[in-house]
Amino acid sequence: MENKKKLILKEATQKENRIWVRIASACNNICIFCLDSDAQNWTFPEEEKIKHEIRVWYIKGYENRIIISWWEASINPKFSNYIAYAKEVWYNKIQTVTNWNMFFSEEFCKKVFKAWLEEVTFSFHGHNSTLHDYLVATPWAFKKSLKGLIYVKKNFPDIIVNIDIVVNKVNVKYLHDIVSFFMKLWVYEYDILQIVPFWRGFSKYKKQLFYNIEDYSQELTNTWKLSTINWMYMWTNRFPAEAFEWYEDLIQDPRKVKWEVMWEWINMFSKFIKTKWLSKPNCFWDACNVCFIKQYCHNFINNVNRPSLNYNKDNTFILRWEEFPSEVYKKYWESKENFLEFLHWKKMKNIKLINVPKCLWWEWLFEKYNDLNPEYEINDYTKKYIKNLYRKKSLRCNKCRYNETCEWIWINFIRSYWFNILKPII
Ligand code: SF4
Ligand code: SF4
Repeated sequence: MENKKKLILKEATQKENRIWVRIASACNNICIFCLDSDAQNWTFPEEEKIKHEIRVWYIKGYENRIIISWWEASINPKFSNYIAYAKEVWYNKIQTVTNWNMFFSEEFCKKVFKAWLEEVTFSFHGHNSTLHDYLVATPWAFKKSLKGLIYVKKNFPDIIVNIDIVVNKVNVKYLHDIVSFFMKLWVYEYDILQIVPFWRGFSKYKKQLFYNIEDYSQELTNTWKLSTINWMYMWTNRFPAEAFEWYEDLIQDPRKVKWEVMWEWINMFSKFIKTKWLSKPNCFWDACNVCFIKQYCHNFINNVNRPSLNYNKDNTFILRWEEFPSEVYKKYWESKENFLEFLHWKKMKNIKLINVPKCLWWEWLFEKYNDLNPEYEINDYTKKYIKNLYRKKSLRCNKCRYNETCEWIWINFIRSYWFNILKPII
């Protein structure tokens, strides 16, 4: 299927009200890349608290998806009760993310599917025991998990099964082989996550796990190519957008930044913003260069004292936020030629363009505008960041003479028209 069509099809899932409910602060694997390891205390949140979350996050009128997870949800003895409760509340889709240690038991599978679990994402970080067991630091994990997967695929054909893979220096060169291996077992949906430099993964295993994406661009591109197979659904998380040149439909939904900063680490980021970065996130500096949130953090620092641009609304056009690529197409047309024509037409009418990179326009008219009136609340800043500051350039921009000063183009225009709309000016 053409990737542009897949991009639009994926929007249906992105429009869902998607909520994650944590039911265990514990895990029966000891993954060396774990981003939450230090916060585990082997307890389960109180039943009433969990049920309250399940109830209040349901939104009438939406497709509601609940993901019962974090850390290893299946070890909570009441796991199937919460599934049944979510069904009672009327969630449209009930999913879990798991390491599959519990799904090794047939009895367990029967119980949770009967309670109405409909979709299972299981974590495999390798396609053999050597790779997977090393990364999850648990002997026999690969064999057990594989047995669970095969059992579910064989006996519960209506259950949606997909795989997530955390990519790191140990497995990146095998990524294509990992996906190909599981395709042979008829798994055609993958969530590929870039490693995050928090907790144990960074403090203990920095050297073993962190890699430079550009050093593995061939291996990554070979994997992205698999996304073009007709019935394949590939999602990616926390990779820098530049890793997807020619496969821009794989760039993650920009709104997901909200989940990164307003969930697990909300206090840390709230303080950072409230204090105008006097209080920095714990991870500041050392980990920044391998961090997906770098642009979010560092843009705040760079823009917090920047004055707003005064402009005349009547003769100015600002290129910014459209929630989905389909909306970009509706407003600016589907082909990039038509989009460029739209900009040209504005110019003919003497309208000033703002936030349009020089290569799409004529340099003498370029201006930038960040719409960042002082925002010292995490909610406000995150919204503004997603809507306006989340701009990207191509790796080829390094050759452009405006590379240092250019502020690039807003992410959904890249997802809609691809990186090659940007033409370095040499
Ligand atoms: S960019 Fe921000 S979140 Fe990432 S490591 Fe640096 S301070 Fe932490
Ligand atoms: S740096 Fe990139 S986006 Fe900016 S003008 Fe040059 S080619 Fe265009």
